[in-house]
Amino acid sequence: MLEYKKELLFVDGLSVCEIAGEVGTPFYLYSRKKLIENFRKFDSAFSGVKHIVCYAMKANENPYLLKILARNGCGCDIVSGGELKLAVSSGINPKRIVFAGVGKRDDEIRRAILNGILMFNIESIPELYRIDKIAKSLNKTAGISFRVNPDIDAKTHPHITTGLSHNKFGLCFEDAFAGYILGKALKNIKIIGIHTHIGSQISDSGSFVLASKKISKYIRKLKDAGIGLKYIDMGGGLGIKYKDEKIISTSDYAKAIRSHLPENHTLILEPGRFLIGNAGVMVTKILYVKKTLKKNFLVVDAGMNDLVRPAIYGAYHEIIPVIKRKGIKHNWDVVGPICESSDVFAKDRRMLPAKADDFLAVLCAGAYGYSMSSNYNQRARAAEVLVENNKWRIIRCREKL
Ligand SMILES: *Cc1c(COP(=O)(O)O)cnc(C)c1O
Repeated sequence: MLEYKKELLFVDGLSVCEIAGEVGTPFYLYSRKKLIENFRKFDSAFSGVKHIVCYAMKANENPYLLKILARNGCGCDIVSGGELKLAVSSGINPKRIVFAGVGKRDDEIRRAILNGILMFNIESIPELYRIDKIAKSLNKTAGISFRVNPDIDAKTHPHITTGLSHNKFGLCFEDAFAGYILGKALKNIKIIGIHTHIGSQISDSGSFVLASKKISKYIRKLKDAGIGLKYIDMGGGLGIKYKDEKIISTSDYAKAIRSHLPENHTLILEPGRFLIGNAGVMVTKILYVKKTLKKNFLVVDAGMNDLVRPAIYGAYHEIIPVIKRKGIKHNWDVVGPICESSDVFAKDRRMLPAKADDFLAVLCAGAYGYSMSSNYNQRARAAEVLVENNKWRIIRCREKL
């Protein structure tokens, strides 16, 4: 989606400089074309099997983007009542919504049942009873699966690994087994599936193969105990290229996921980052070029409140100039205006010369960018802009003070 024409950066044929001039900075800029391309690529990798793609909407919850995905037949993985409301109002079919999270509130469970979502991915035994009780009070049945924690080291950042036995997520196989037996006896519970999600930004297909193997073995065990499942939800986690990581192709990913699973089920997949990550950049303006004895800083007008991944995960984002200037590369620290030392987008990054008022594009910022933004330091959230059909439009206005 990105290309230089002469010295200027373009997204899908539109000049980033021009958009920035009109919208002001900072802002997120997305490509509709890239989003749809990512969705189709992912979806078609599973074309041989019955499956539902349930986009993990926490990655990016812009309603306009959700509508695009809904129109392409995408479902959602939600983690709160707020996400439920947004998914439904954006046209996501409730029969394609799965609800995860260790701390579902009564009102959230109630609304999800009333909306007729496909299933709750249950994360504890008390939650099973709670859902049964609420379903009973509504005179309904709730479709459920248990989220199992297969104790797999997905070899990713400790803050985004979820499938190890010391993580708060899911149940170990033994506890989930007890849950399935208990659930069978509950009148307002309908056991339909199994769920697992081993982590995020995974670049080792062996982790997915191992998950596939453990889950399939477990499904056989459940079957022997008289528990048949229709849905196998393998979660999300497919990694993307931020720097020079090797990544898993969608076809290798599908192969790994399916490597051990039985065929007569409907597979559910919950990609978040993969669908929107590289379909968005964050555009920011250099406020000051600050040189000190030890360091050269580019102080930009976006902060960790706008894009927090570098601060909390030490995440790498490539940063490129919107106007390429001639000269030799130097080392720069790209920093925001927030009063925290962790408000740094890049350290000692080799970059072309730049001046105050130049724009920079922070790449691969579409996932866990805007959705994790905050008002810290009493800053208004950025605008969101989409390029579609050779035009751009604001799909979320900049917040006002
Ligand atoms: C975050 C999350 C996902 C999506 O993870 P990605 O790495 O963005 O694909 C999927 N399922 C669950 C349960 C999650 O918590």
